[in-house]
Amino acid sequence: MRNLIKKRINQSIDAKKIESSRSQKLDNIKDCSECQVRFLCSGGCFSEKILSGQKITDKLKDDSCNLIKLEWSKIILLYAQIKDKDHV
Ligand code: SF4
Repeated sequence: MRNLIKKRINQSIDAKKIESSRSQKLDNIKDCSECQVRFLCSGGCFSEKILSGQKITDKLKDDSCNLIKLEWSKIILLYAQIKDKDHV
């Protein structure tokens, strides 16, 4: 039974999809190369891209991308304010 389950799992794994997921390195997402929060966002959520019909080497859609930039800018600003207060 265990071997049968293992065999079915192995048969259902799509090697091409797994290989393509490895190309989601930040360097491969050209539209993210100039973004100030790229090392925090890393080009966005892999699942979100797949579910919205995008390639994993695409930048997130504008709405999601702008929201992430806004979130991180606020987090960075808040962090800077907290850090400043700690050193006073
Ligand atoms: S916020 Fe947008 S542009 Fe910046 S790294 Fe994320 S997906 Fe790319």
